[in-house]
Amino acid sequence: MILAPDDKGLYCPAGDFHIDPWRPVKKAIITHAHGDHARPGSKSYLCALPGERPLSLRMGGSVQTLAYGERLTIGNATVSFHPAGHVLGSAQIRVEVGGEVWVVSGDYKREPDSTCELFEIVECHTFITESTFGLPIYRWQPADQILNDIRSWWQGNAKDGKTSILFCYVMGKTQRIMAYLKKYENDIGKIYAHGALQQMNEAYRQSSVALPTAPNPVDMEAKHNFSGALIFAPPSAQGTPWMRRFKKQVTGRASGWMRVRGRRRRLAIDRGFVLSDHADWPQLLQTIADTGAERIIATHGSTATLVRFLREQGLAAEAMVSTPWEEAEEM
Ligand SMILES: [Zn+2]
Ligand SMILES: [Zn+2]
Repeated sequence: MILAPDDKGLYCPAGDFHIDPWRPVKKAIITHAHGDHARPGSKSYLCALPGERPLSLRMGGSVQTLAYGERLTIGNATVSFHPAGHVLGSAQIRVEVGGEVWVVSGDYKREPDSTCELFEIVECHTFITESTFGLPIYRWQPADQILNDIRSWWQGNAKDGKTSILFCYVMGKTQRIMAYLKKYENDIGKIYAHGALQQMNEAYRQSSVALPTAPNPVDMEAKHNFSGALIFAPPSAQGTPWMRRFKKQVTGRASGWMRVRGRRRRLAIDRGFVLSDHADWPQLLQTIADTGAERIIATHGSTATLVRFLREQGLAAEAMVSTPWEEAEEM
């Protein structure tokens, strides 16, 4: 076994490192800076070069980096990062020991995203794939269409003098939508971002992702009029007193989970946009086939259905528990 879970995370004995550990370790190699993959407290962190700023922001210190495709020898293992197309700096981690190749996908998607590099197929013997949306009901509409829906939703609200509040994950979703809307900021209205998004937006800007100015609404004078504006906010801001400053408001949320009608209702928002940074069911199957792997390990989310399906196709497939907090929300 080149990689196997121990009590701290996915461990590589040949290189004495962990990938995305959930407890502090000596050497942590990180697929990307989302909270369910990157946790503070480890002695050292290594990530793909474009992920440096988001990861150091979240880990509260400096991190080591390696450019995509560059190889690093750690003990008896050779490690390299390859674009996962999920969020800025997200990587699949390729680990080679004695000619055997394993790839840990981290989270990934196959569609283009202007805020990060396109997913790259990496051939391997064993592929550890995420399975967040590993059920046949998950099939995404093209992202361009959803982004366009968000734009017309904002435009319609602005015409009615309303303020649009869009709840998105702090890292990734917010910046992906913001980058797309940048060219409309003066035509439709102004764009603002909740205080909890400011640092991550800045980390993206410093990584050469073009985003709208998006000031913090709290910094505006008391009588400031937000009519026609689009306000980005983290899901945790919903229902807080912070929202009272926006008079005629309409709420929306962008997430792959908006595919599930019950969730949408429970969240009590006006509009759900099914925009995901994860592979849907067809993308998962396509990617697994593309890697040429003879062994698939599914982790994260709905693994049972995916494993059963792959076994029916004659592949060696199994599920692996990724963290003790499997359902942890992605932030
Ligand atoms: Zn993620
Ligand atoms: Zn994740």
